[in-house]
Amino acid sequence: MRCNACWRELEGRAVSTTCGHIYCNEDASKILSSDAACPICDQVLSKSLMRPVDINPGNEWINMAMVGVSPQILMKSAYRSVMFYIGQQELEMNYKMKKIVGQCKQKCEVMQEKFTEKLEQIHTAYQKMAKRCQMMEREIESLSKDKQELQEKYAEKSRQKRKLDEMYDQLRSEYESVKRSAIQPANNFFPGAEPELFSGMTNMMGGREYLCRLHFIQKQI
Ligand SMILES: [Zn+2]
Ligand SMILES: [Zn+2]
Repeated sequence: MRCNACWRELEGRAVSTTCGHIYCNEDASKILSSDAACPICDQVLSKSLMRPVDINPGNEWINMAMVGVSPQILMKSAYRSVMFYIGQQELEMNYKMKKIVGQCKQKCEVMQEKFTEKLEQIHTAYQKMAKRCQMMEREIESLSKDKQELQEKYAEKSRQKRKLDEMYDQLRSEYESVKRSAIQPANNFFPGAEPELFSGMTNMMGGREYLCRLHFIQKQI
């Protein structure tokens, strides 16, 4: 059996109470010197309601303790002793259950603390990520605007380039046509050294004027 106050295993002498509880000598003395209330059932105790017991009695006690007692009283006493023992077993079981529940509760509290801490860490990390996402979204928005502006500028430049290309092609074709109309007649009518006679004229006259001039010169010859 165990002391119902400190729950250490009882050995040798102990003190039992009329309310059905048992204590080590130290705890029995404490109870009597303080409020004299049983720690388990709160019954007021006094020395007369407490009885010293031998937890491990010797053979001499076992042989002589009940000598002369009638079997009816003996059975009644044995019944009370067994009931006391069963009551102590229940108390001990409750104590162990409470101890286990307390340990589980403590573990749960530690786990809950850790879980809360982790949850806070995750929440902080999530907030950081959310802020970063917002910043990235703003950056993407700004980059999109820049991209759009650049696309518009590129389109404008492309339009300008096409216009310049068209102007260049037009000028080129005009130049080619002027060149053809100016040079071809000179090659046909004056092969050899004669074309330099009119080399200055090609720059000054158009193709048609140039041909009229040539016919006039031929007639004079
Ligand atoms: Zn004790
Ligand atoms: Zn009690």
